[in-house]
Amino acid sequence: MTDNIQVTIVGSSNVDITALMNRLPGPGETVLADSYQLSPGGKGANQALAAQLAGARTEFIGAVGEDSHAKIALGQLEEAGVKLDRVSTSRQPTGVAIIQVDSGAENSIAVVSGANSTVTAEVVNAAGTLHGIVVLQGEIPASGIKTAMDLATDKVVLNLAPVIELDRDYLLKANPLVVNEHEAALILQQLDGSETMSTEAEPVIAEKLMAHGLASLVITLGANGCLVVEQGTEMQQLSAVKVKALDTTGAGDAFTGAVAARLAHGDTLAQAADFAGKFAALTVQAHGAQASYPRSLDAL
Ligand code: ADP
Repeated sequence: MTDNIQVTIVGSSNVDITALMNRLPGPGETVLADSYQLSPGGKGANQALAAQLAGARTEFIGAVGEDSHAKIALGQLEEAGVKLDRVSTSRQPTGVAIIQVDSGAENSIAVVSGANSTVTAEVVNAAGTLHGIVVLQGEIPASGIKTAMDLATDKVVLNLAPVIELDRDYLLKANPLVVNEHEAALILQQLDGSETMSTEAEPVIAEKLMAHGLASLVITLGANGCLVVEQGTEMQQLSAVKVKALDTTGAGDAFTGAVAARLAHGDTLAQAADFAGKFAALTVQAHGAQASYPRSLDAL
């Protein structure tokens, strides 16, 4: 029974522990924070919520701990109806991001991967068949990413964030690779086997990435929209929607999840990226990551 799943996300889920304070503590220093909050995060979970809210029946495959954070990490996904039957429970704790934010919105973040580090080849293999479009990020071990690519029967959307070492053959299975401009330059460096990171303009980096044999690529450019290129077609630059941005946390994840959802509905990559840009623009107008994702598509 596949429940007609259209998008399967294999990736990370976290609890973000965010403390707000006047200034960040230096080494060895204690400062009193004003408040804190616990919120669900992790690129995999964020993208799964976005794909579901963008209209695709979505499954999330990952791992959480046997602790109270697990419920928080998966709470929004459960509420939105994302399929969670194949999320495994690990002896490691649920992943957490410990975030300190000062009054100028400067932050410092420590991430404990915890259970996310157990999403290896073994765990992904044990999950079995992956249905529909498969979406992957860089917050689980490379062996888990590679196994998910091997098991995929449809397109693989690879959002290699953060950029981790991945064999060339696997990098080139991405269709599309969806990354921001910084990640694009790092991946080009990896494919070129270069000592230094390219500082060339994004369209040049896009051309060079495609020349390595990628089938398709989206480079997101924040408020400047994105570049879309498919093998054998002209590169397109899509503008972002002009909005007053309040908090861009999770915008990239909203974009990637929405791209996958629209590809699953049969959109071309440019159509999917156009929709995803509108979807992501809604999210930057509200605070938080998952909390900012639109629960209704009426505004689109
Ligand atoms: P990341 O967070 O991964 O660096 P980006 O900042 O490039 O990702 O954002 C992803 C997408 O979200 C962009 O391509 C754009 O469509 C949308 N977006 C991000 N910031 C804004 C903004 N300030 N205004 C409108 N859209 C935005």
